[in-house]
Amino acid sequence: MNVRSLAKEMTIPVLYRTGLLRAADRRLGRAGVVALSYHNVSSAVFRTHADFLSQHARILDPNDFRNEVSDPTHSHQAMVILTFDDGYKRFVDQIHPILESHQFKALWFIPTNYLGSEQGFWFDQIQLAIEASTTDKITIGSRVWKLPKRGRRYTAYQIKTFMKSARPGLLDSMVEEVLDQTGRPPIEALKNHMLTNEAEIQALDGRGVHVASHSQSHRNLTVLDDDDLNDELVGSKQQLESVLNREVAHFAFPSGDHDERVLSGVRSAGYQWAWTTEARYINAADLPYQIPRVLIDDKASVATLAAKLSPLMHRIGLVK
Ligand SMILES: [Zn+2]
Repeated sequence: MNVRSLAKEMTIPVLYRTGLLRAADRRLGRAGVVALSYHNVSSAVFRTHADFLSQHARILDPNDFRNEVSDPTHSHQAMVILTFDDGYKRFVDQIHPILESHQFKALWFIPTNYLGSEQGFWFDQIQLAIEASTTDKITIGSRVWKLPKRGRRYTAYQIKTFMKSARPGLLDSMVEEVLDQTGRPPIEALKNHMLTNEAEIQALDGRGVHVASHSQSHRNLTVLDDDDLNDELVGSKQQLESVLNREVAHFAFPSGDHDERVLSGVRSAGYQWAWTTEARYINAADLPYQIPRVLIDDKASVATLAAKLSPLMHRIGLVK
């Protein structure tokens, strides 16, 4: 862990608990609009976040936030857009009831190839397999990662990031290569990473949840050829539109990866909005195709959530 993140981990809870964070934020003035990007948060964690948000933030409708970005009301209260990525079943069973009871609206980004999948994502399998294994290193081709005995989560994350940028066709063999070294992930751990299906997205859409596209296969779009890129963008949109029986206007780049070619693909596929993973407030210039979102860890404390919204933390660049 570097000095910066250590300083952050130590100071944020103190700033939050002592009320200094709020005091500093009030002096700095207006809070911006923040889109939060959740993935597979549990109800135990999200309930504490929802209670905090209902007291300290205003949740915006993801289909009606343009005015707050381009012509903001001057308020200390943070304005938040809630987004959930990757279509986990836990969102249906545990998170949606909390959203409903707080009357919060949210975007739910779905990679369509995984609808109804029994396997879960390759990246969850890799993460869980590495965390559960006792091997002290992972080798992929000529690359080697040493694994510490404890705290393997971050190294697993680095390995997944490397694998995400693999050329199409290489990924499957890389997954096998890693699982050969770790063994399969424990079934019990995989249970919390099961994915949703067509019937569930149909049932939730319009009930506070707005279903949106997150490509077909969740690959890094910048490394695909034009035909595959087009399939990911147009194919996922068409599939969701036929399930939901309405137009699908929102898209989120898998892992935030995009470049000029991907942006023009999003535009010509007919999306109206696209969401990235840049950790900052939303500015008018980001609309409509490069809307930043602040990642929030599925185990984040309320203090961390408060920091993600804080004008002070945004000003000094400690939001990531
Ligand atoms: Zn994703």
